[in-house]
Parts: sequence; structure tokens; C-alpha cells
Amino acid sequence: MTASLPNRMTRYLRADVQGMHGYAVQPSAGMVKVDTMENPFGLPADLRRQLGERLAEVALNRYPAERGEVLRAELARHAQMPAGNDIMLGNGSDELISLLTLAADVPGNVVLAPLPGFVMYEMSAKLQGLKFVGVPLTADFQLDGPAMLAAVREHQPALVWLAYPNNPTASLWDDDVIEAIIEAAPGLVVMDEAYQPFASRDSLDRLKRHDHVLLMRTMSKFGLAGVRIGYLIGRQPLIAEIDKLRPPFNISVLNCEAALFALEHADEYARQAAVIRAEREMIFAALGAMPGLQPFPSEANMVLVRVPDAKKTFDGLKARKILVKNVSALHPLLANCLRITVGTPEENQLMLAALREALQD
Ligand code: PMP
Repeated sequence: MTASLPNRMTRYLRADVQGMHGYAVQPSAGMVKVDTMENPFGLPADLRRQLGERLAEVALNRYPAERGEVLRAELARHAQMPAGNDIMLGNGSDELISLLTLAADVPGNVVLAPLPGFVMYEMSAKLQGLKFVGVPLTADFQLDGPAMLAAVREHQPALVWLAYPNNPTASLWDDDVIEAIIEAAPGLVVMDEAYQPFASRDSLDRLKRHDHVLLMRTMSKFGLAGVRIGYLIGRQPLIAEIDKLRPPFNISVLNCEAALFALEHADEYARQAAVIRAEREMIFAALGAMPGLQPFPSEANMVLVRVPDAKKTFDGLKARKILVKNVSALHPLLANCLRITVGTPEENQLMLAALREALQD
């Protein structure tokens, strides 16, 4: 039990924040951790040793400076940033979500996203006092084109979030529907491509065609969730505006060097992503073969599956030391759904064996 805030302080702190829950992380010690879409693979031992040597050379007494510029340039190259665009770095894309919302923080402005979606779009909007409009997906987790277009026309959102692929549904959207939303949107449209390493399509072309589209990516799913590097690409004048809101030196020198090292070894991470994609297909097929389960097709490193009783199955898996995410309560469309991150081949076998048992409990 946590102590409560002393009475004399409550009036100085935001009442709405005091009434809300923060972003929760499930305890995972001793568990097969397949709940938060991390890349389950570390670097091979020789590369880890080289990385350690590189980090030992970093000047911790200095504020981050030139290496941050090098990282921006390397990420721009890695992402094939089109001419006329610029890139800014965030302490994870979570920070970029927060900064973009802050940039749109004009009284009366609306933030719009399909639901269920990544929870931080709504949370950031609400924290900044902006109105959030969530448009339900269809029952098979596709964008509801007519509903999205109607909502865009009605609310004239300053900011539209489209996670591509989406979390937690792992789905990509119909490209014609996206195009129609972009055409109709008066403000910014952010294509959040956190799961791009595992997807069959991306939005690079959209970025070239539209000056109000931004592309957000992260190194988290690539394999550096602990390093906290997200990046935002868009037309130069737009990025220049948003970058004014970035706290100085938001990327640690250690994070920066680790990210540069990872990009030098991008082929190793590409190999890992290929294994993850193959394992995802194996998990999808195995889940589909279990009576009573309905897995949904995935373009990310997670599989969403509907089970007869999500709480019971979640508890049964947990008792067997497998930690997944029960997303049932996030949205009515997700009733009895579990989200399972793709682990190592060994972890995936453990997860499937435990699931077969848990379904018999
Ligand atoms: N966007 C989406 C769609 C996500 O699912 C997540 C986290 N799982 C993020 C952004 C945030 O990623 P990070 O802050 O690690 O870059």
C-alpha cells in the first residue's frame, strides 16, 4: 500500500492528475516476459564486449552534443529520409507523442485516433487539456473509413494518430482509407511506425506526397527498448517548430552511443527481425489450431488472440511463469483478448505449452 499525498499539497497539484492512473508496467521477475513487444534477443557476446568498450570512451562529464548530430544523420540515412525533410530525436517515441501534443496545445484543439490504439495518444491529449476523440475500429480491427472521415470532418482535429501497424491489434490499415483521411485532415497526421521492422508496408511515400504527414519511429522494437530513442521525420519547417519544445539534451550520451553502435550492426538486428517474423507466423498458426481461440493476423511482433475467458487464461499463464498482456479492459472491442509478444523460439514453445495447459484449467 502506498502512502497518500499530504493534504496541504493536494491543492497545489493538478486534481485531474491526482484522479488518474499512470502508465502501469507489470512485475516480471522470473517470468517469460512476452507482454511489452520487446525484441527478446540480446547482442552476441563479442558485440556486447565491443559495445562496452565504446561506452567506456564516452565523455560523461560533457553535455551531449556532436554525437547527437551524428545519430540524427545516421537515423535519417537508416530511414531513407526524403529530401526537404528533417529529423528530431525523442527519449523514446513516448516523449515525441508528448511533444507533438504540446505543440498542438491550442485551446479547443482536438486530437483524434482510432480505438483501440496506443494508450499514450489519449493520455497525452488529456494531460494537456486537449479534447480526445476516439473512433472505434471495425470488429475485425480495421479502420472504419466512413466513421473516421466523418469524425475528421466534424472535429477538424489538429492531430491525427495512425499507428501503422497498430497496438494492440497488430493490424495495418487499408491504404486507400489512410489516403482519404490524410486528404481530409486539416492538421497533422502522424504515422506511428513503431513496429515497422516487422511490417510489410510503410509510409515513406506518404511523407513525400503530403506536407502535413509526419513519420514517427523508434529503436525500441528494433532491439533497444532500454535505450529510449524515438525519432520523428517531417518537412523541415514543421520539425523546426516541434523541436523548439524538446528539452535540451534529451538524449543521454550513453544512449546515443549505444544507438550508433546498433546502427553499425543493423544487419544483426535485421536477422533478429526475420526470426521474429517467422516465429510470429508459427505462433499465429499454433493459436489458430487450438480449439476456441481466434488469433488475429499480425504485421508486428505481437499476436492478439481472443480466448474464451481472458482473465482465467491470463492467470493460468502467469501461474506457469508466462507473462502476457490482458488487454480485455482497454476497449469493448478487445473483450477476452490477450496480446502475446513474440519471444525467442524457446520462449514461444514454453508459452504455447503453458497456454495449452491453461486452457484446460
Ligand atoms: N507507439 C506505439 C504504437 C507503441 O506501441 C509504443 C510502445 N509500445 C510506442 C509508440 C512507444 O515506444 P517507445 O517510447 O519505446 O519508442
